[in-house]
Amino acid sequence: MDDCIFCKIINNEIPNTTIYEDDDIKAFFDISQVTPGHTLIVPKKHVKNIFEYDEDLAQRVFKKVPMIARAIKESNPDIIGMNICLNNGEIAYQSVMHSHIHLVPRYSDKDGFSMKWADNTGVASDEQMQERADAIKKNLEG
Ligand code: 5GP
Ligand code: ZN
Repeated sequence: MDDCIFCKIINNEIPNTTIYEDDDIKAFFDISQVTPGHTLIVPKKHVKNIFEYDEDLAQRVFKKVPMIARAIKESNPDIIGMNICLNNGEIAYQSVMHSHIHLVPRYSDKDGFSMKWADNTGVASDEQMQERADAIKKNLEG
């Protein structure tokens, strides 16, 4: 993809701070460093989002996440947790349309990262929950 910023980083056409690379993925620092060590894991194959992964690509990419997460955690004793996020689509805060997994090391509850989750426990009836589940289940592949 000619105009993709992450393809350019993968090809070292623009500067980046890489911490790991193999045939399938490149892991480099996010320029914004939400917290120190904030890393992106990016498949070398240009896929837009999670909906474009096949099982083989998913295995090759996601199997590396724990190894890289551990390396980041071990790099600094102040890291006491980590948020791992994969944003898919603009509505889900994806701004670069080449799929990437954010690894955001956590240092404290005031380290610059936050997530807001609504609690809708009990809002849907048991029947509505079952209908939702059935609608998903009939679309499962394989
Ligand atoms: P998204 O919002 O799509 O989940 O995340 C895209 C991320 O890419 C953002 O956190 C942003 O800081 C990062 N980013 C955008 N441009 C560059 C760049 O040129 N270099 C690096 N290293 N990160 C970038
Ligand atoms: Zn790309």
